[in-house]
Amino acid sequence: VNTVTETISRESRNVQYPQKNGKVQWISEIFGQNVFSLNEMSKRLPKPIYSTFLKQIRGNEIIDKTTADAIAHAVKVWAMEHGATHFTHWFQPQTDSTAEKHDSFLTLKSTFRGGYEETTALDTFSGSQLLQSEPDASSFPSGGMRSTFEARGYTVWDTKSPMFLQEGPHGTAILYIPSVFISYNGEALDEKTVLLRSSEILAKTTIELLDLLGPVNEGTTVSYHSHHVHTTLGTEQEYFLIDRGLYSLRPDLKITGRTLFGGLPPRHQQLEDHYFGKIPTRILAAMSECEMELYKLGVPVKTRHNEVAPAQFELAPIFEEAMIAVDHNLLTMDVLHRVAHRHKLKVLFHEKPFKGVNGSGKHCNWSMSTDTGENLLEPTAHPETNYRFLLFLVAILKALADHGGLLRAGIASASNEHRLGAHEAPPGIISAFLGDHLNDVLDSIEQDRPLKKFGSSEFHSVRVGGTVLDLKVATLPNIARDLTDRNRTSPFAFTGNKFEFRAVGSKQSVSFPMTLLNTAVASSLQYINADLKKQMGDKKFASTEDKITIIKKYIKETKKVRFEGDNYSEAWAEEAKKRGLPNISNCPDAFAQLQDKHNSDMLNKLGVFSPGELNSRYHILMEKYAKDIQIEAETLRTMVVQHILPSTFAYRRELAETASLLKSAGSDSSPEANALNALSPIVVGLQKAAAKLEEAVDEFINIEDIDELGKAAHDSLFVRMEETRSYADKLERLVADKHWPFPKYAELFLNI
Ligand code: ADP
Ligand code: MG
Repeated sequence: VNTVTETISRESRNVQYPQKNGKVQWISEIFGQNVFSLNEMSKRLPKPIYSTFLKQIRGNEIIDKTTADAIAHAVKVWAMEHGATHFTHWFQPQTDSTAEKHDSFLTLKSTFRGGYEETTALDTFSGSQLLQSEPDASSFPSGGMRSTFEARGYTVWDTKSPMFLQEGPHGTAILYIPSVFISYNGEALDEKTVLLRSSEILAKTTIELLDLLGPVNEGTTVSYHSHHVHTTLGTEQEYFLIDRGLYSLRPDLKITGRTLFGGLPPRHQQLEDHYFGKIPTRILAAMSECEMELYKLGVPVKTRHNEVAPAQFELAPIFEEAMIAVDHNLLTMDVLHRVAHRHKLKVLFHEKPFKGVNGSGKHCNWSMSTDTGENLLEPTAHPETNYRFLLFLVAILKALADHGGLLRAGIASASNEHRLGAHEAPPGIISAFLGDHLNDVLDSIEQDRPLKKFGSSEFHSVRVGGTVLDLKVATLPNIARDLTDRNRTSPFAFTGNKFEFRAVGSKQSVSFPMTLLNTAVASSLQYINADLKKQMGDKKFASTEDKITIIKKYIKETKKVRFEGDNYSEAWAEEAKKRGLPNISNCPDAFAQLQDKHNSDMLNKLGVFSPGELNSRYHILMEKYAKDIQIEAETLRTMVVQHILPSTFAYRRELAETASLLKSAGSDSSPEANALNALSPIVVGLQKAAAKLEEAVDEFINIEDIDELGKAAHDSLFVRMEETRSYADKLERLVADKHWPFPKYAELFLNI
């Protein structure tokens, strides 16, 4: 009660937004101010050094020592001007978060004077310190790839991602150097190395296709020739914010990130009034402080709003090159976490912190772009004759058709398992939604028939590819309508000029799913390129007929992954089965996809994962899954035995004493006796279930085989946890509130 009262009286933290001449500074003025950008480099480096550096990063060359030393010096000066005392290689081990180890700029220099040694302190930073560092890697997950006696791991500066400053203690700053993390033998130990590899192979196969298509592209206006292609990514981050005081009273939230029991309050999301509602003041203050920090870090945060569930919110950036977008999403999560703390709030990134209300995802908006800024998934006004677009579209559909199971593996985790297959999230079947118009484009090509008409024919109006809607209100402007309506149930939906991979979890690093997607699409492109070449004979460029022939072939081949209906329906699960699409509902089955020869061969062949790397990933994921569930099981059992049962006993005693007092006073004691009797079978059930859970944990910890461990986590621990929870949730409704040991959903959702 005290905590609840405190929560209500908490005021929002007063944060001074950066000001200039007494006015709030524009975002554009503070944007990127803590980033050692190319622009900053060009100002601070001698011209020849700067242009050598540019050449080296564009050509994927190794940075030479002179260049590295010059950059190290320049960045040190810049960082120290901003208060930096330390630097750190910042990398992404397979933990869904980032890792860092700080080193100060301090060096000691000895001089000998008259036989005496004299030491002077200096601030230095060398090229080799910039390029490489060697953290003791033995404590990061490696899936058996590195044993502890050969613990060498290296972090190497990822030159394409800019360095930046973060706040250190007492007004100081720390220089962050984005890095990859590899083993002594060059195997990827992190998330970033494989993402970089996958982007390279996707770029290569994309350029091959563009080269075959030649200079004339029906429907597109910009010249074809491009030597650089990159994937673009915009991540919509969903999260919950709750009061930190209440949070600290829930061991389950603190230890596992989700509530292991608790039932819905009478009012939750059924009125659908939270989504896009007015953002509560305290939350807005935290969001805004977070955004301010992100702007300085060059993270282009754009949108903030309430999400569907109570206490749930979303933050979305403007899309960027995928590699940078991944770095920026990880930074966003980190900054949100830290800023929430200052506001006495706690951010929850778990995909399903509360049973019965919507969970959180991280929609990955994904496309490909040329260095001239052309979006290769822009359908333009006439997608039916934009063959380049159609070729890329069928390549993506083919990736889903061939490797849907693999994509499912990329989003599997103990926490996301609650979402995939549960009702508010896309199920474990990977299919694509294209919308009526594009679907008809594909069908008409397949069936050699003319295209149906869609809306008015004013395709050339405001939005390319859209139609214009008349709102029938004279004072409102006409609006441009997207080519596709939305389908919120699809795991992978085309949304105008990009795909939105919606099944990705809110907590995970999006690096792995993006790596798998890039690689699967690159693999499709290899097939398509080979077919197209064959079709072309000895022509230099593909003719319209060549293109249509290939497009048609792949439309037929990939038809099974297109689905426009309700993905949550039973009917779809049945239909998908008929079509032969995998429906993967749990993690052990999902991870098995990584070991499926069809998938692993593809990943090896394209050079993204070696067999050893893939195997280690499988082990890490499975082990993490099993451990996550084990921790939940043990937490749940402890809470039942140490809190819920004792509280229930106290309430029972109170009822029993009252009933017996009333009885001896000759009064009707049946209401109390009834309440007491109603509790008894549930208490017995809870105690038994908790004992069974404990037995299951004891058996579990003796299992050595990793596959069996995963299976036992799912089939035994998880099932027993659910059973235990069902009794605890019943008690939560029956036991007097003053006896209940934990804040309930109603309190956690308090409007703050
Ligand atoms: P929607 O309303 O369909 O979700 P938005 O325009 O709001 O679309 O975009 C959602 C996210 O998609 C944003 O992060 C946005 O920057 C990103 N996005 C837009 N275009 C692209 C693209 N070509 N590639 C990748 N992401 C994109
Ligand atoms: Mg969206």
